[in-house]
Amino acid sequence: MTMASHPGTPEDPLRVAVVGSGPAGFYCAGHLLTAKDLTVEVDLFDRLPTPFGLVRAGVAPDHPKIKSVTRVYEKTAARPGFRFFGNVEVGGDIAHAELKSHYHAVIYAVGAETDRSLGIDGEDLPGSWAATQFVAWYNAHPDYRDLEFDLSCKRAVVIGNGNVAMDVARMLLLPREELELTDTADHAIDPMADSGIEEVVIVGRRGPAQAAFTNPELRELGELADADVFVDPAEMDLDEHSAHSIEGEGEITPRRNVEILTEYSRRMPSGKRRRVVLRFLRTPVAIHGNGRVEAIELVRNELRHGGDGSLRAHATDAHETLEAGLVFRSIGYRGVPIEGVPFDEWKGAIPNDEGRILDPHEQHAIAGEYVVGWIKRGPSGVIGTNKRDAQETVDHVLEDLAEGRLPEPEHADPGAIEALIAERKPDYVSFADWQAIDAAEVAAGEPLGRPRVKFTRVQEMLEAARRR
Ligand code: FAD
Repeated sequence: MTMASHPGTPEDPLRVAVVGSGPAGFYCAGHLLTAKDLTVEVDLFDRLPTPFGLVRAGVAPDHPKIKSVTRVYEKTAARPGFRFFGNVEVGGDIAHAELKSHYHAVIYAVGAETDRSLGIDGEDLPGSWAATQFVAWYNAHPDYRDLEFDLSCKRAVVIGNGNVAMDVARMLLLPREELELTDTADHAIDPMADSGIEEVVIVGRRGPAQAAFTNPELRELGELADADVFVDPAEMDLDEHSAHSIEGEGEITPRRNVEILTEYSRRMPSGKRRRVVLRFLRTPVAIHGNGRVEAIELVRNELRHGGDGSLRAHATDAHETLEAGLVFRSIGYRGVPIEGVPFDEWKGAIPNDEGRILDPHEQHAIAGEYVVGWIKRGPSGVIGTNKRDAQETVDHVLEDLAEGRLPEPEHADPGAIEALIAERKPDYVSFADWQAIDAAEVAAGEPLGRPRVKFTRVQEMLEAARRR
């Protein structure tokens, strides 16, 4: 590899591979393809035949407006210089080193695909799941197609106080009439609509003032057609530090959360068929059951100041056991390492300095390697957060280009990588192929009044692409 001349002209375009077609990958592609006075070619890879990452496979099916952000990504895909290589796994079908030899820069946008575990006894019992598994199953992610959720129990417990926990609780309580109008995977609609669940308990380690919910999601929980919301008034009795912590100008979200929760704690039940209960200051210490989940043991916490000024949960001696047939943990996500790319095991992310991937031994930036989105900063923020994040990463790519710091690839010809992919993965999916898959899904949904009926197997997706 030699150092570059100055790519970015029509004769010698800047060639960038973006790995992962979720929001972060698409925003990077968009920023690159609209960079001023530069000719850029972006190849966007995804291991699935379908693009859009968690917008398709994470965002709850009853939030179709949020999913419509994909229109912005479609505009990016229509720009000259854009290509999509779906059904191609980097680190599997194509190696990191092979990408490096075909592009001036490689940007990883692979998200955080796995979950953090609780590390408690009983966590592996049948009936104990990662929220990621359930979410991916009801959203038709092909890797999770064959999971089987027994939803016949009366009580489910969701561990975690973020929006994903809210999504899981809400989806568990949606009535059939609502579910059937969404793009929930067909295999999930009957089990969810006919479930025996009467109560979902959401458990937070810290107090109401520290919950990471956003206000609209918390409000939505109080508006469910089929379930009353419950908060114990005693748990709304904030300690002095918590009360103080939400007073500041920048604390609008937690302050509103506390107001909404206070209102919930004063509500009288309206006689709905089901309940959703928010519990605070509790940590699970064990999951009990004979052959499957039957109960969860919680310990009560109190909040104390940590060294960094934050309020930390400390266990007391008070234990309680809740009968439950299902436990979903939603306490954070971790990235999955890719061979040849540095990985910080502790953070579950790729080590970087504002998007430039760092050599873990030398701590300097590796020329031509970048990162963006959840695999860069960890699993935080909403879809829009990835736009700003992508701007930061792309700014550094362009700065390195201007400073002559990008390596010159051995095979800059766009035909070379296409030939390699066609050899390795003859059934790779182009963006036009995806549009055929998309059109088939939308057409199947139309007569049912649904946004789409999702394919749930890679083979079905490839067949729809082939019919193009
Ligand atoms: P992702 O969206 O995860 O995209 C990563 C992509 O990389 C995937 O398409 C994956 O297939 C691909 N990939 C992974 N490994 C490889 C590989 N080796 N080779 C090729 N491709 C690979 N935000 C909101 O604003 N509103 C919401 O309602 C909302 N709901 C959410 C619900 C859930 C359950 C979750 C988990 C998140 C939600 N978010 C929501 C947050 C939002 O989805 C994230 O901020 C965003 O998706 C992160 O983008 P990303 O591009 O970093 O990762």
